[in-house]
Amino acid sequence: MAGDTAHDVPEGGVILEAGKAREYETGSWRSKKPVLDKEKCIDCLTCWIYCPDDSIVIKEKKMEGFKYKYCKGCGICAKVCPKEAIEMVEEGK
Ligand code: SF4
Ligand code: SF4
Repeated sequence: MAGDTAHDVPEGGVILEAGKAREYETGSWRSKKPVLDKEKCIDCLTCWIYCPDDSIVIKEKKMEGFKYKYCKGCGICAKVCPKEAIEMVEEGK
């Protein structure tokens, strides 16, 4: 498979196959994780717009939580939330 070693990476680092992002569990990069306070959340979905990893779970236009398998813990969602409804907490707490 391309990418097994640095020598196998295609020229320019181009990813040639579609749908590859699913294979990379970026959640393993995380040192802090976002935690939602549903009491404060107004379901404005600003966090969903800004999340770079599509890790905000939305159901019927409501913010439901996070896809921790892919959330890399960047904290952008917590930063942009107008209600401070997301807190970044240390992993394992
Ligand atoms: S911490 Fe970053 S990756 Fe995780 S849900 Fe928030 S914005 Fe997305
Ligand atoms: S940005 Fe904040 S208030 Fe808006 S949906 Fe996300 S958690 Fe809820």
